[in-house]
Amino acid sequence: MPWQVADVEGHFKGLSDNQKGAWVRVANSALSRYDEAEAIKQANASAKRMQEGDYILFEGRLQKMDMNLLERLMSTAAPGKKTAQEKPYYITMMTRGCRYACTYCCNRTLLRLYGGRAFVRRRSVENVIEELSWVRENLPFVQLLVLSDDSFFDTDELQIRAFCEAYRAKIGLPFFSLGTPFGIDDSKLEMMVDAEVWPLPTYAEMLFLR
Ligand code: SF4
Repeated sequence: MPWQVADVEGHFKGLSDNQKGAWVRVANSALSRYDEAEAIKQANASAKRMQEGDYILFEGRLQKMDMNLLERLMSTAAPGKKTAQEKPYYITMMTRGCRYACTYCCNRTLLRLYGGRAFVRRRSVENVIEELSWVRENLPFVQLLVLSDDSFFDTDELQIRAFCEAYRAKIGLPFFSLGTPFGIDDSKLEMMVDAEVWPLPTYAEMLFLR
């Protein structure tokens, strides 16, 4: 392993091509933390939920999730609503955690909890672009992409350049990211502008909007 789409039928029958792709993502992700049997078990449980469908409480009643409802939900959900200007948007993260300790922020407490050890975790550019490419392909109504990161800019220039180049070449939707301003410098800003991603200030952090 890792599994491919062609392997799915041997573990779970009756899935669409999209659902097989989701099975593979769940199984391969679980394989990084569990053994093979547990990864298959988790992917099969996820596939069963996909077949049964999901229900959400929306506008005061339980409704079966479909693409139409998902578009309405992603246009009205609270985070980023003001910036998104009611456009359907997709929110994800490239990093978790922050190495700073501003007094008003939960990361100060988290640093204390973990003995002062910064625990910033960063996904690869390839991994994030793969997710955003899936969004472009499968959620065509999405008009804005949001990275809800604490530490997007707090990395070296090579990472920022690689992200900007891949984003411009493969995604190209309007985009903004939260991120500590401590990691920003002129050079990184120039790369973002070259990739047509422009800055706007927000509270103690920075927000980027094309
Ligand atoms: S830079 Fe931002 S995310 Fe990091 S500790 Fe300060 S407020 Fe929190």
